[in-house]
Amino acid sequence: MTHTHLLQKVGVEGLVEVAPEIFRLRVRNEVLAGRAQPGQFVNIRVTDGFDPLWRRPLSVHDVDRQAGTVDFLFAVVGRGTRLLSQVRPGNQLDVLGPLGNTFPLFPQRPAVLVAGGLGLAPFLFFARQLAAAQVQTTLLYGVRSTTQLVSTEAFQRLGVHVELATDDGSEGLRGTAADLLRRALPGLPEDAVVYTCGPLPAVRAVARVLAETPRRAYASLETRMACGLGACVGCVVRMRRRTPDTPAYKLVCKDGPIFDLEEVDLEA
Ligand SMILES: Cc1cc2nc3c(=O)[nH]c(=O)nc-3n(C[C@H](O)[C@H](O)[C@H](O)COP(=O)(O)OP(=O)(O)OC[C@H]3O[C@@H](n4cnc5c(N)ncnc54)[C@H](O)[C@@H]3O)c2cc1C
Repeated sequence: MTHTHLLQKVGVEGLVEVAPEIFRLRVRNEVLAGRAQPGQFVNIRVTDGFDPLWRRPLSVHDVDRQAGTVDFLFAVVGRGTRLLSQVRPGNQLDVLGPLGNTFPLFPQRPAVLVAGGLGLAPFLFFARQLAAAQVQTTLLYGVRSTTQLVSTEAFQRLGVHVELATDDGSEGLRGTAADLLRRALPGLPEDAVVYTCGPLPAVRAVARVLAETPRRAYASLETRMACGLGACVGCVVRMRRRTPDTPAYKLVCKDGPIFDLEEVDLEA
């Protein structure tokens, strides 16, 4: 199996620190901008050398197909993302993608996007698709503190209703994105579709809220990942086994990153 057709050289257009240690990276590549779909990710080589060896996965944050640009939103958490935060306009990056599945779209049903921290990343591109399909969309966005908030203006310009939460109560509801969902659910139509993304504890919390008040729901899972191509089996996620035919595990890179929340066993 070759993936050479997914290998792209992308030129860095710009890098902006949108909050402390959180960056928006814009790259130019017409093939990537033309092919990427909401929910997909790329695997980026952050250096020309072998350290760190593995590429780093980042969700497609936004796309301008006409300009041929793709945006990523990332937090510096370790060596790879630190190196990525040091790129400069004009640098070339080696990117594998677009990879993974896409958010399922239900044109007649309201959408609720539940983002914990950097789980916001894949939702702007998706919100564009939802707005084009005239889907009524709400964003429930939780971060630790107001300093970590990334602007939601672009969502608001698309007509998305935005509600905020902070763990320390410095802005919006004191609590998490899952708490926002718990508060919003009684007012949401039965057929609303929930999409969530964020660190595993945040996605688990959303799943627990939905266990009390079930709704169709999908989660984009950001497990640790190495090869991104299904070869290393580094990003397994346990499935609920309803029948003996259900696979016990799936791979986030190959089968995901988006899963029906009813199918995955997040408590494992
Ligand atoms: C499909 C997918 C999409 C992603 N999209 C985004 C995105 O849009 N924006 C973004 O900021 N991040 C995203 N991530 C997470 C991002 O890939 C990691 O933060 C990055 O690989 C860390 O690399 P590093 O070298 O900086 O950190 P490392 O040195 O590899 O790790 C530093 C610390 O972070 C922890 N860590 C690393 N990766 C993860 C992870 N995936 N989940 C939980 N903890 C982790 C490590 O355990 C360690 O404690 C995504 C992950 C996946 C699988």
